[in-house]
Amino acid sequence: MIPIPSVAPFPVFDGHNDVLLRLWLQPSTDAAMTDFLHGSLSGHLDMARMRRGGFAGGLFAVFVPPAQYAKQHNAAYREEQHCPLAITEAQIALLHRIAAQSAGQARICRSAGEIEQCIAQGVLAMVLHIEGAEALDAECSQLDSWVAAGLRSIGPLWNLRNVFGTGVTGDFPCSPDSGEGLTPAGLNLLRVCNQKKLLIDLSHMNEQAFWQTAEHSTAPLVASHSNVHALCPQPRNLTDRQLQAIAESKGLVGVNFGNAFLRADGKRDQNTPLSEIVRHLDALIDKLGEDHVGLGSDFDGISVPNELGDVAGLPRLVDAMASAGYSTRLIEKICWRNWLQVLKKTWGE
Ligand SMILES: [Zn+2]
Repeated sequence: MIPIPSVAPFPVFDGHNDVLLRLWLQPSTDAAMTDFLHGSLSGHLDMARMRRGGFAGGLFAVFVPPAQYAKQHNAAYREEQHCPLAITEAQIALLHRIAAQSAGQARICRSAGEIEQCIAQGVLAMVLHIEGAEALDAECSQLDSWVAAGLRSIGPLWNLRNVFGTGVTGDFPCSPDSGEGLTPAGLNLLRVCNQKKLLIDLSHMNEQAFWQTAEHSTAPLVASHSNVHALCPQPRNLTDRQLQAIAESKGLVGVNFGNAFLRADGKRDQNTPLSEIVRHLDALIDKLGEDHVGLGSDFDGISVPNELGDVAGLPRLVDAMASAGYSTRLIEKICWRNWLQVLKKTWGE
């Protein structure tokens, strides 16, 4: 039995954040490091606020944004030099810099055992994830060097088309059935991920890609940051049939805190109450059972409810779960134990 950690009564191990993208978009890497390690109150995540919120670790996404997006968020960005491989490697390097400059306060974890050790010691447990494999070629040539750098999880698709397939697209309200799924290279990537015991993330897959993964992957099905389509008909949210398949595979869904993924009207309204997150948790528990639901904040990637604010507000979400009648044991499962279990099943002990 894993001991209850001493850092916070309810540590959180979270399925998805985009802090590496936010830091990469800053014109100065040194300033980005200072921001993250010493806190400047920008964005949702930094070391000080993570500690206050009980954020014990999670999957840290490397993400190559469209060139135009990078330009919008960093005026100095040179769109003509947009290179997915260089961006991927720069964001991986940022994660390593965080670990190296954190004075032992943050570590890159490659196994569930290492994550447990970090949680027990109050050290931030960072797992390297790639969201949208835009930088990977069809032969997966770069994968071994990324695995050597700590990669343990990959979402082959984001919202656009790449060599592996087409991600989910569509305006609200919309079905996730948005056309072609995985290409032959995408199916090969599934095999390679299974061989290397890399987690395959289903968030951002359209229905066809989802069902191809359900058919071909030998691992539990995991959607790291998606919600319930019946409650909020975003194409990024999961239909009842998809949830059924995740339940049968003994996988996991991490609930996304994004207002637009929570609300029945799909609006990005920040006055969304925390009870909306609990509403999705209730539905996920109903469909998947208590052992297959976790958190997948999407911090630094979306707008979250004002009641939460940023990562320091996580204890308020725990309060909302307790007010809804969730037991201490269930809250612990949602906050971190279920993620640890599914990572163990996927990666091996
Ligand atoms: Zn995402």
